[in-house]
Amino acid sequence: MQSGQIAIGIDLGGTTFAVGAVSREGTLLAAARTDTPASRSADDICDALAAAAQAVAERAGVQDDEGIAGFGVGIPGHVDPRTCRITTCPNLHALDGVDIIAELQRRMPGWGAGFAANDAEAAAWGELRYGAGRAVDNLVLLTLGTGIGGAVAMNNRVIRGPRRILGEIGHMVVNPYSERRCGCGNFGCFETEAGKQAIIDKAVQALQAGRESLIAELAGNDPQRVTPEIIAQAARAGDEVAVEVYRCVGNWIGMAICSIIVLCDPDLVILGGGIAAAGEVLFEPVRRTVAQRSRAWGFDPANIVPAQLGNDAGIYGAAILVWEQSGCRAGADH
Ligand SMILES: [Zn+2]
Repeated sequence: MQSGQIAIGIDLGGTTFAVGAVSREGTLLAAARTDTPASRSADDICDALAAAAQAVAERAGVQDDEGIAGFGVGIPGHVDPRTCRITTCPNLHALDGVDIIAELQRRMPGWGAGFAANDAEAAAWGELRYGAGRAVDNLVLLTLGTGIGGAVAMNNRVIRGPRRILGEIGHMVVNPYSERRCGCGNFGCFETEAGKQAIIDKAVQALQAGRESLIAELAGNDPQRVTPEIIAQAARAGDEVAVEVYRCVGNWIGMAICSIIVLCDPDLVILGGGIAAAGEVLFEPVRRTVAQRSRAWGFDPANIVPAQLGNDAGIYGAAILVWEQSGCRAGADH
């Protein structure tokens, strides 16, 4: 392997993490997904990440450290732009305040520069370079899951702003009358209206109001087992309650995209994350809302498209941080 031709991408999640070796041309040479250590101490997590990264590098044919250009980490939280320490990691609090790049460099000396970025920011790089956004220069990515992440690319680069909050679309206040409190402490954030829990709550409320629905059968008549996947499955089968849930959620997402269109003027809006896997039952109401409310701006709702890299988006995105010298760079300079 030629010197420095592989970047290691680490996609860190609350329940699992994935590590991949990506070539400069964008080929995923080897990858592995592992459970995030249950003990969840920062040391255990960093040990597990380093061990997985070393195993993946070996499987990718890296003979020695010379083959590695560097590594990137996508984090489900925020990185302080000055210190590169993780400020908050809502699903992995053990990492709050940790300089994850320095910790990994200590365990993998000789692996070159390390970069850290928010996971949506990394995923946007992935879609921009190797995924749905390859042909455009300006895009907005929304990752629809437990929370709603977002990132913006302009002029063919992902941008993040001086406090690295640019693109935190999940925390736009969209419903001033909401009593749902967000993880950020605010009320009426976009992610409290259209995130995973909101979707489940809408379906469960309909069931509890006595509505007949395939959702009940698919969840074994247990409200605790209702998931967005089950609701999507019922919606695809034409179930009225499930279709209504996705219509409502799609309407919220569509309205948020209308704001994004006038704020960012994107060529494409890409929807990724587990909730976007619902497919047309979600995309149809999203596009319809945008068509109705964005007539003035000439944005074609067909340019709201699914993410292409799926589960590997986070790996690609984290590896691209190395090629693009993007994200928060720590350890190498001090
Ligand atoms: Zn919020």
